[in-house]
Amino acid sequence: MFRGIYDSHAHYDDSAFDEDRDELIDKMLEPNGPIRYLVNVGANLDESKISVEMAEKNPRIYATVGVHPDCVEELSDEGIEQLRKLALNSDKVIAIGEIGLDYSSDDVPRQVQKDWFTRQIELAREVNLPIAVHSRDASEDTLNIIRESKAQEIGGVIHCYSYSAETAMIYDKMGFYFGIGGVSTFKNARKLVEAIEVIPMDKIILETDAPYLAPVPNRGKRNDSRNLRYVVEKLAELKGLSPEQVIDITRANAMRLFNRVDYNFE
Ligand SMILES: [Zn+2]
Ligand SMILES: [Zn+2]
Repeated sequence: MFRGIYDSHAHYDDSAFDEDRDELIDKMLEPNGPIRYLVNVGANLDESKISVEMAEKNPRIYATVGVHPDCVEELSDEGIEQLRKLALNSDKVIAIGEIGLDYSSDDVPRQVQKDWFTRQIELAREVNLPIAVHSRDASEDTLNIIRESKAQEIGGVIHCYSYSAETAMIYDKMGFYFGIGGVSTFKNARKLVEAIEVIPMDKIILETDAPYLAPVPNRGKRNDSRNLRYVVEKLAELKGLSPEQVIDITRANAMRLFNRVDYNFE
């Protein structure tokens, strides 16, 4: 029943998977396993490099390269050059990310975050890839930078979407996709559920953000892509679809965005 899932955002390079990484990935991605494809997301320069290595080793794994707003202080002209090389040297790199703004803590000055967000959007334009955006407690500035840099021409996903239904409609009009994961199953997810109700089904892609954000009933535990079944069930309920339809549609959406394959079902 739960087969063919495309997990568009995970961090399997995380030390939480040191004990059983290869075994777990093999089990999830085996031909009759639950997961068809997964994207390992870079959040800093080292992880970007590791993500590409993981993708090069496994035909069902793709990579993004980019530096998360919490880590942008490691960036420099040379760092941007490293990301550019990683993106251009592997056709398994399918987006620049995760990049964006995170105002939930004030560890990195906001102006520094904004500058490197803009710069990495420019990089995405240069290498002709969509963006994977991380945006937390920074709705207005994220939207402003996306508009100023005309990122809608590049396209991408707002990962772990957490803003209002009104804001979702703006991103939808600009052609962006929405990463939906475990948070949608939380008891206090009313705002996200309202947003999901207005987001068209052809703009939703599934994501774990593993090892973080495990859905109910596994909330608080280490997350992995198999838990997406609970997110699939939640979306099926909210959108009046079967779980199989949710899996097929979200996979086709991710294929369209990241792999530039424009067909509905494989
Ligand atoms: Zn993120
Ligand atoms: Zn992430």
